[in-house]
Amino acid sequence: MTANFAIALHGGAGVHPERDYGEVEAHLGELIAECAARLGAGQSALDAVEQAVAELESSGLYVAGRGSAPSTSGEVECDAAIMDGATGKAGGVCALQGLANPISAARKVLDQSPFLLLAGDGARRFALEHGCAPVAEEDGYYRLPVGIDESELSRLDPGLMHGTVGAVAVDGNGRLASATSTGGLLGKQAGRVGDTPITGIGNWADEDVAISCTGIGETFIRAGGARDIVARMAYGEDTLEIASSKMLDTVAALGGDGGLIAMDCRGRCVMPFNSPGMKRAFAHSSGSKLVRIR
Ligand code: ASP
Repeated sequence: MTANFAIALHGGAGVHPERDYGEVEAHLGELIAECAARLGAGQSALDAVEQAVAELESSGLYVAGRGSAPSTSGEVECDAAIMDGATGKAGGVCALQGLANPISAARKVLDQSPFLLLAGDGARRFALEHGCAPVAEEDGYYRLPVGIDESELSRLDPGLMHGTVGAVAVDGNGRLASATSTGGLLGKQAGRVGDTPITGIGNWADEDVAISCTGIGETFIRAGGARDIVARMAYGEDTLEIASSKMLDTVAALGGDGGLIAMDCRGRCVMPFNSPGMKRAFAHSSGSKLVRIR
């Protein structure tokens, strides 16, 4: 076991100028310390990113899991993906309703399905059959009256606009993993699926790098997302930092914005964004730690 391990989290691209993010900042600070302690005690990167994202989902502070924003039909549909860089195995769920922790459903797909991405009711039934917990009634997801439209969005809690969650980690054995989960974009059409559950776009891990993206999913898909970064490093010999910022430049050129967290197998991490802020945190076995909102 090598001494080095590291983990980074994000709580979504974008911040609202009028919202106080004190609670989010405190939560990220506590969670990143707990995650680092678990990695220090020998937890695998794959388990670390699943647990971190499940805790972000359950907190209700982000637009994922319990805090998800509803679609225009008033339903909450979640997307999530997880990938193990050491084995190349991945799992995802999309347009998933009624599950407390979509990331754990994605993990079940990774571990126990011959398929990689399950959608809608099939994903829900698979997750329930494999022991994932449904949303408890008292924890019911945020709900809006059916039929919200654009003109009403400005009156909603601004926190619902931004808050996909993600984690990337390298463990003491040098294994990388990534996990990403979202309730999607506020005011999305029912059935809309973004970049988050698509392995290679919103979420990716291999033996060299782990990446979790956040932002306007349609533009990340068109820009090539995480795999565009990997390809720029492999074929263009860009550094992780340069490749990440070039991919985000393409997102911007397509009219989107967002950010990402990316980590290499030595625990070096980049966290670029071109949105107004990105909730993020990082901890390394060397003791360095960071929590930032803007
Ligand atoms: N990427 C997510 C999506 O398009 C949203 C976000 O990251 O804020 O569904």
